[in-house]
Amino acid sequence: MAPSLLASPADFQFSLKDIHALNDCSRDNATFSGASHAKNLIGDALKTRVEAVDHDLCGVGEEDAFFVADLGEVYRQHLRWKKNLARVKPHYAVKCNPDPQVLRLMMQLGLGFDCASKNEIETVLNLGADPDRIIYAQPCKTKSYVRYAAQAGVKQMTFDNADELYKTKQLFPDAELYLRILTDDSASLCRLSQKFGAALDQTAELLELAKKLELNVVGVAFHVGSGASDPKAFIKAVQDARLVFDRAAALGFNMHTLDVGGGFTGDATFEPMAAVLSASLDEYFPPQVRIIGEPGRYYVSTAFTIACHVIARRTVADATLGTTSYMLYLNDGVYGNFSSIIFDHQHPVPRVLKAGADVLYDVPRSGYDTPSQIEYSIWGPTCDGIDIVSSSCTFPELLDVGDWLYFEDMGAYTKCSATRFNGFTDTHDVVYVCSEPGARALMGI
Ligand code: PLP
Repeated sequence: MAPSLLASPADFQFSLKDIHALNDCSRDNATFSGASHAKNLIGDALKTRVEAVDHDLCGVGEEDAFFVADLGEVYRQHLRWKKNLARVKPHYAVKCNPDPQVLRLMMQLGLGFDCASKNEIETVLNLGADPDRIIYAQPCKTKSYVRYAAQAGVKQMTFDNADELYKTKQLFPDAELYLRILTDDSASLCRLSQKFGAALDQTAELLELAKKLELNVVGVAFHVGSGASDPKAFIKAVQDARLVFDRAAALGFNMHTLDVGGGFTGDATFEPMAAVLSASLDEYFPPQVRIIGEPGRYYVSTAFTIACHVIARRTVADATLGTTSYMLYLNDGVYGNFSSIIFDHQHPVPRVLKAGADVLYDVPRSGYDTPSQIEYSIWGPTCDGIDIVSSSCTFPELLDVGDWLYFEDMGAYTKCSATRFNGFTDTHDVVYVCSEPGARALMGI
């Protein structure tokens, strides 16, 4: 590998080849070259790793859960973003998955970054990012972190209340402030507006206070909730933002940037959602207004697959019904990388990776939900009863200790919120593959 962390290309510079690929890019029929290749790469990486583990002889932790990350998928998501939201410059929400290679690729792709803490800011600055590429998108900030941001020259930050304005006046009067407004996030997976965002009827007062304190308010920010599903939430938020821009102009502010936050999912709802947002932006904001976004899960969710080892099995015989099912205990659970079940309301789908000597990654079969197959519940390794990954699933195979399962779409809000409860590790290996030549070239690999 020849990392060139400091050499970031101009924003959104792609070769002609990339643009053609972008035009062809369709997730449904996978015409884009790398999409069809990705499964093979991921499968090979999973197979190589699990076949190297002999659970009867291996050292402590050699059978630990591990990820395979396809950086090509992150790259494809970026092309898809460019195709559908050309006006919105993405600032990747680092909190979602601060994986170092993902961040490196984003640096090379010219993305900005949404950071929520001193450590996230420091991580991105250490990659060589210019402070201008960072927005400290946390309306209620720790004082010492604001001092750090000021000293590091990270000027863009959000606020949504008067106390934060006084704090900013004291610690960083030159900050470039974004007024975060409330949204209707009722159709999202993780609601944020119960915690953050100024109501529309408070915005005039906040802007007046900012004026009085001689602070520099440069834009409006919103977030329609993580895992948003209702495009109408974007329309309303854009309309509200327009109102706040107009109020600010009346007070003499020259707002120049709208931050449309995150909330985008990587599934098929992205295109219609992006179309609605783009149309609203064009209707309410002239081209000279800069638009940024803070996507998190959209970029990384589908790029990570996790493999987990079956460490124990318990047979459950029901004499009354005459049935036998099994409880499988994995070496990862809700206190680890499956924290997304608790914090992010996810339902990871278990699949068999290795049963005995057979590696079954991506083997097409219809039987996953056929009741006549063998029934399992899947549990994590800790002592806690809530540590359950799946309460019921079926596989054709009779699985046992030493077998492996895999779960796709494990890139968002997973390893970043893992704990060390019960002494288990919160650090798991990531095997990187890259199914896109364009991404490999940018990464120098
Ligand atoms: N921006 C802010 C301020 C957030 O709080 C979050 C998530 O909590 C994000 C961006 C990323 O959201 P998502 O992963 O839904 O795109």
